[in-house]
Amino acid sequence: MPASYPLHSPLSSSSSASTADARTALLKRAARAAEDYLEGVDARSVAPTSAAVAALSALRGPLPPGPTGAETVLHLLHEYGSPATVAKNNGRFFGFVNGGCLPAALAASWMVSAWDQNAAFFVQSPIAITLEEVALEWVRQLLGLPEGTGGAVVTGATMANFTSLAAARHALLARAGWDVEADGLFGAPPITVVVGEEAHASVFKALGLLGMGRNRVVRVPADSQGRMRADALPHLDDRTILCLQAGNVNTGAFDPAAAICPMAKEAGAWIHVDGAFGLWAAASPVYRRLTKGFELADSWATDGHKWPNIGYDCGIAMVRDPGMLREAMSIQASYLALGEHREPSDYNPELSRRARSVELWAGLRSLGRSGMAAIVERTSSHARQFAAGLKAAGYEILNDVVINQVLVSFGDAEKTLRTIARLQTEGTCWCGSTVWQGKTAMRISVSSWATTKEDVERSLAAMLKAAEE
Ligand SMILES: *Cc1c(COP(=O)(O)O)cnc(C)c1O
Repeated sequence: MPASYPLHSPLSSSSSASTADARTALLKRAARAAEDYLEGVDARSVAPTSAAVAALSALRGPLPPGPTGAETVLHLLHEYGSPATVAKNNGRFFGFVNGGCLPAALAASWMVSAWDQNAAFFVQSPIAITLEEVALEWVRQLLGLPEGTGGAVVTGATMANFTSLAAARHALLARAGWDVEADGLFGAPPITVVVGEEAHASVFKALGLLGMGRNRVVRVPADSQGRMRADALPHLDDRTILCLQAGNVNTGAFDPAAAICPMAKEAGAWIHVDGAFGLWAAASPVYRRLTKGFELADSWATDGHKWPNIGYDCGIAMVRDPGMLREAMSIQASYLALGEHREPSDYNPELSRRARSVELWAGLRSLGRSGMAAIVERTSSHARQFAAGLKAAGYEILNDVVINQVLVSFGDAEKTLRTIARLQTEGTCWCGSTVWQGKTAMRISVSSWATTKEDVERSLAAMLKAAEE
């Protein structure tokens, strides 16, 4: 342990002046470590080396019997932690529909931590609750959702699906005269849940958590792009929750909402949309046509940490009738004497929570309407550049590249998996594998604001080299 990291024991600070000085020094070091990390991120391998992952053993072991100075703790994080990260900030990470983190959102997250706000109620954090209201309204406008739509800022689209579907469950059972929050689902009137064959796994998880069952669903066949087939819809009625998808996690395809939603609405079904990343296409005048019809739905789940590049964690549930969300989520307790403000605890699964809306507000404020549209358009054009380059080299593109997702096969499953493994080890960029309708593929998801044309060219060259070896 270097001598330049003195131990400031949190148990023995002598005066408040020296405590403040030590904190300032610590935060300066943290800022320098972060700077150092971000400056180095372009030159290093996107995946950490196996040596860096092995060196994490330095951070294991039993909890020390006594305190460790905060500077030493920080040093350990930077020395061993930084090299064992996956480099997400250099614009060449194309795995899992992960964005980067916008500079304004990163800076805001430092403020959020310094503020240490509990974003449960207005009295605990006027700033967080105010920015949450503003950010939710901005999200509503960007996604082209109806006026009056309310929402909740949660940890990701999985929780956003859960939160939205809790509102759906409430609404449909209340209509049938059943109070699901009070009486549960045992003995409740049955609800039918309809999903597309290519629905995201998190929708099934959310249904399971809500007691509606991962398998107790009617699956609608999908086409070659993973779009729900409008001609194969089952009977829908006012006891049906219909889950649509805006942006398939593999192909980027959109369910035909314009054909399905008017019918479903007519039948009285609750329409829920999983639009974790794809729904943001609505923010672009060029891509908005893909989202036509989804605005007719009753609830929508999306992610701030995917296409908008807000950083982790940030999911958003939007509900046309926020009263349904409130009925599903609000709690009462004697010490919770609340005022006239919108209280996040009435709309969220959590009580105490991080003020993540501050980053959402900051990121969106820094982008503006045109900045959000530009991310959608730029990353989608990068995706087309990847597809064209791979196709020109003779490799098969398995999907219609409608937004930012590309599926490529380098031959049989074994050759494709070998190519992916070589690419990940080589380190210029990072892509994962998937199986699309029985065929093994490499998935390229261009989601980061930071990706440049040069990043695409460098990465494409690395892909072709990995495939030829
Ligand atoms: C990523 C994704 C999810 C899950 O989102 P998390 O933020 O990881 O919880 C759900 N649905 C779709 C379509 C996705 O792309």
